[in-house]
Amino acid sequence: MTTTWVSGADESGYGADNLPFGVFSHAGDPPRVGVRVGDYVLDLAALLGDPEFSAATLNPFMARGSTAWRATRAKVSGMLTKEAGRALAEPHLVPLSEVRLQAPFDVADYVDFYCSLEHAGNVGRIFRPDSEPLNPNWRHLPVGYHGRAGTVVSSGTGIVRPAGQRRPPGVEYPMFEPSRRLDVEAELGFVVGSPTSLGRAVPVEDFAEHVFGVVLVNDWSARDIQAWEYVPLGPFLGKSFATSISPWVVPLDALGAARIAGREQEPEPLPYLKRVADWGLDLAIELRLNGEVVSRPRYASMYWTPDQMLAHMTSNGAALRTGDLYASGTISGPLPGQRGSLLELTWGGTKPLTLADGSTRTFLEDGDTFTISGSAHGMGGGTISLGEVTGTVQPTRHQD
Ligand code: MN
Repeated sequence: MTTTWVSGADESGYGADNLPFGVFSHAGDPPRVGVRVGDYVLDLAALLGDPEFSAATLNPFMARGSTAWRATRAKVSGMLTKEAGRALAEPHLVPLSEVRLQAPFDVADYVDFYCSLEHAGNVGRIFRPDSEPLNPNWRHLPVGYHGRAGTVVSSGTGIVRPAGQRRPPGVEYPMFEPSRRLDVEAELGFVVGSPTSLGRAVPVEDFAEHVFGVVLVNDWSARDIQAWEYVPLGPFLGKSFATSISPWVVPLDALGAARIAGREQEPEPLPYLKRVADWGLDLAIELRLNGEVVSRPRYASMYWTPDQMLAHMTSNGAALRTGDLYASGTISGPLPGQRGSLLELTWGGTKPLTLADGSTRTFLEDGDTFTISGSAHGMGGGTISLGEVTGTVQPTRHQD
């Protein structure tokens, strides 16, 4: 493990092998860009002086491209690991307890995929018990939809239970009322830094030139609204009320030791989706409901890899913008304890979970707090943390 002189950082999951980027405010100063190390934020605006670090979002820095990302990471890493850098950097470490974390970047477009074979299979069996669980296209392309960028919120933002149309089984007319099937989806989000121009497809091999890093995503989902509205155009109001992301963007370069060959694909994808590098990721994900662990999926089981998602998303010539966010879809593995949504964990609400306090849950109740965290092996043999994304359910706001 590459060690740092920052006290307590090496064993914290935020040592020199991680160095995620975020946006913080401190002591009444305007928000700015920082790097987390241990229980501190390194103030890059004060330390390095580049104007993009004085911005309230990572977008200007991410727009500079992969050469600048790597140079900055190397510079910061050098200061934090060499005694010679200590005098320069130490005055710019701010205790995490004194800062307020902001949304790390302005979300340009938001796309959500559906890349877990087990998740897609489980949802197919629950929503359409009488037909094939996977649609004929599923193994040929990473299925996705365009979501609502304006309702991507930072971790900790309260999640107001949405109201909407639902039509329970056996009922002739739908009703409009608060969702009774509010759910979570544990996902990994990929943050685009380098933009492209309209008409240009991004090949799989250019993935790391465009994607800056990853965040954890909770794609809150109202299953009853979703089940009634989604045919034939896909997810809409059952998804767009809120999507939460974690505050620290972990650079792709920090995930080198987590990279694995992607899961075997059968049939072989079309040439534009053929992998040329290992962009499977072995990440440990944990889902907690009111503090209690309810699932532990591993990202390694995902079927489509993020380089394939990017290639597919741009294969029609759609341009990328700095701040585009695309998420993997629910991360579910083959075992029951690896399911990434309550829909699957309770099998459509038919098998309630029993929590440690004796209470049961099918879907979320008002006041419930749901937290997703993640970690991976770091380049030097230690563990790096992906942080966490959390949110608490608030009651529907009724209009008077
Ligand atoms: Mn989703």
